[in-house]
Formats: sequence, C-alpha cells, structure tokens
Amino acid sequence: MTLPVALIESLRGLPGFDEAAFVAVHERGEAPVSVRVNPAKGGAGPEGSRVVPWCPAGRYLASRPSFILDPSWHAGRYYVQEASSMFVEQAFRQHAGGVPSPRVLDACAAPGGKSTHLQALVGDGLLVSNEVIRARVGILSENMQRWGGDNVVVTSADPRALGAAAAFFDVVLVDAPCSGSGLFRREPEAIREWSPELVEMCGQRQQRILADLWCSLKEGGLLIYSTCSYSFRENEAIVDWLTRQFAAEPLPVKLDPAWGIVASGKSGYRFYPYLLEGEGLFMACLKKTGAVGPASRSLRPASFLSRREAEPARAWLSSPDDYDYLLTGETIRALPAALAADMAWLGSVLPVREAGVAVGQPTRKELVPDPALALSSLVGSPAPRLELTLEQALAYLRKDDLRIEGAPQGWALVTFEGHGLGWVKVLPGRINNYWPKPWRVLKR
Ligand code: SAM
Repeated sequence: MTLPVALIESLRGLPGFDEAAFVAVHERGEAPVSVRVNPAKGGAGPEGSRVVPWCPAGRYLASRPSFILDPSWHAGRYYVQEASSMFVEQAFRQHAGGVPSPRVLDACAAPGGKSTHLQALVGDGLLVSNEVIRARVGILSENMQRWGGDNVVVTSADPRALGAAAAFFDVVLVDAPCSGSGLFRREPEAIREWSPELVEMCGQRQQRILADLWCSLKEGGLLIYSTCSYSFRENEAIVDWLTRQFAAEPLPVKLDPAWGIVASGKSGYRFYPYLLEGEGLFMACLKKTGAVGPASRSLRPASFLSRREAEPARAWLSSPDDYDYLLTGETIRALPAALAADMAWLGSVLPVREAGVAVGQPTRKELVPDPALALSSLVGSPAPRLELTLEQALAYLRKDDLRIEGAPQGWALVTFEGHGLGWVKVLPGRINNYWPKPWRVLKR
C-alpha cells in the first residue's frame, strides 16, 4: 500500500499526526471488524465481542463472519459499521440528548450507518434520512427497513431542496462526501483516486452542501459535521469557514482520554487508526446561534385514511391506535400519530421514498403484508408466527423451497430467534415465500 506523498506532506504538523505510525498502520492493512446492535431488537451482538468505548451498542468482533449468511443480520438485529463513526452517539447525546422529540436530518445518509444509529438515539423524535444520489437511495431504504424503526422518513432530495424545511430540524448531520483518505485501509483502491485536486473539489462541495442546508436548522440547533478524510481542507478549514460565514458556535464534546481521540481546531475531533480501533474520521459539533427567516411551513391538511378505510391495515398491528394511516401508491403506511402531521407535510415538500412503516397493499380480498411490517415491531395478530431453524431461515432468505411441519394455512410471520424476518403464505401442499426478490441471498 503506497500512500500518496502529497497526502502525507499535507498532514505534517496536524494535531495527533505521527507519520511513522500512520505509514505502519496502513502497511499492516488489517482493520478491526465492528457492528452496532439494534437496541429495539434485543440488543444482542455476535458472541465473543468487546464494547466500543464511545458507543455502548458498538461491538468489536474477533473475526469477520459471513454476515450475509446470518439471518440476524437480515432481521436488522445489528448493523455492520466501523467503530470511529459510532462517535456520532457522543455528539448527539452530549448536545441534543435532552431535546424532547427532536427532529433530526441525516442529509447524506446512504448506506445508512449513521441513520440507523440516530434512529436508535432519537427516541420518540423524527428522523429524516436523505440521500441525493438516486442509485444509493435503494440501499438506504433497505437498511432502514431492516432496522425497523417507525419514526423515519427516507427522502431523496438535493441539499438545496431540503431548504424547503426551513428552521425545521433540531439536529442536522452532514456526513459529507469526501476524498476518503480515512478509509484507505479498508478500500485501498481509493488511494488511486486521491489527489490534492480531489481534496479541494470535495472541500468546495462540502461548503455548498452546508450552505444549502444551514437554513433547515432551527436557531439553537445542532450541526454535526463529519468526513472520513484526514485533510485539513475538508475538516478544520470547513469548521472555520462555518464560523466565519454563519452564526455558528463550536461545541466541544467531552472525551475520555483513554479513547485515543484527538481534539483539533475549534471543535473538531480526529480519529487515527494507530491511536484507536477504528478508521480515519473527523467530526465536529456546532450550534446555530442566529435566527433564520420564519419557518416556511404551510400546513396542508394531509388526507389520512378514515378508521374504516385503514381497517385492513389496523388489523395487522398490535397497537393500531398509536398510528395514523396514509395510502401512498398501492401501500398503506402507518405513521406514529405524534409524528404523522410532520411526516405527511414532509411528503408534500420533499421527494419521500419511505415514511413510517409500510403495512401492506390492500387487494379486493385481503391485505398483502409488506416486508417492512415483518421487520418492524408493529406487527401483532392476525398472523401466527413460525420460528425457523438456521437451515430453514437460510432457505427462506434464498427463496428456496421451504418446509415447515404443521404450519397452519394462511399468512404467517417467519421469525429467527424470535425476531421477525418476513412473510409466507401457507397453501395446501406448498408455502409461498414473500421475501423480496432483490434481497434474495445468492451465496451458498
Ligand atoms: N452517512 C453514511 C453512513 O454513515 O452510512 C455515509 C455517507 S457518505 C460519507 C456521503 C454520502 O453523500 C454518499 O451517500 C453520497 O452519495 C452523498 N453525496 C454525494 N454527493 C452529494 C451532494 N452533492 N450532496 C449531498 N450528498 C451527496
């Protein structure tokens, strides 16, 4: 692994930078494997794991298993994520942990690492997970469905369009597209793409994204900015620019010295893989101190379904009264009652891909339950649960023939270790498998 000379030269003198240790850790190559467990799904991680110091739900694994062959991964019981990124928990808890029902925007969200994490942190608040690149929204949406929260809206908007939600958010996370030097250990091909010009281009794009998003943050709100780059231009220089350009005040995050995280600049934190178990990362917190113009929120009445219209969906939920129901396309969605007006409003100003939990598609005869319902915690009667063995769960995920002795006819929720995976319909002599084709496991 030959690191770009221009990168090393540009890092000399930066807080915590140790050239010999930096080169050595890249030569060694191997990166720790870590996951973050889903507290809403039992919080259990793979066995033999150690806790990530700055994130109680983070776990280091002794080796890299085949996640794709683990039904618990498909059931959204954990998310595979490198450990430095989990520091977003400290930023959020220390500066927004006390905000009641916060509205949180993850502006650059795909594939969903920090969004699944934020979902676990916002409690009864609202999370908008946005990804502008169309080709990447699918994986974001899939990961959010697996994770199973009901308080998420997935959008695909340009940062400029997110300005329609002026002064709407208590927290905005910009995990910006960057030159990627922090991931060289995991993605050596990124070394070939790196250049000083790329760093400058990314810096300018980061400024554009932040300028476009600034108005969406409330006065007093929290901006969390992060990159997986080591470059000053994309990190401390961006924080300096923010404080010059906008009414933005740097907010320090309390660190435990044992974590090995290096404070840098006005409110930045650097993660070096030779000082901690994680990849290269920069994160900073800023508070918006100035007001923006009035919130541009014209409340259009949303056309929620009446109780009678929603009945086919309500019948599948364990607490149907906690939700309002919307028909979008052919799908009935359940939106938490306390968030439904906000979610419906967002749908009227932004290109929304998912909102709340897709319950199913009503047909003339019945409601066909949606895969997202199986992965959520909403599902109640009428469907029985069929617990699968590992072998059966893998057959289900591969869409192979499935045999389950004594299964009653009709719809059933298949579970693995007690957690919902997906739907089957048991017919005389065969079982129809409703695991989505695009999610099918091909690996044997
Ligand atoms: N937050 C994600 C996670 O934790 O899984 C990783 C985000 S990645 C560092 C940056 C994201 O920004 C990418 O998904 C990329 O498609 C998106 N992006 C690229 N250009 C963008 C732009 N001009 N505005 C906003 N987002 C952009």
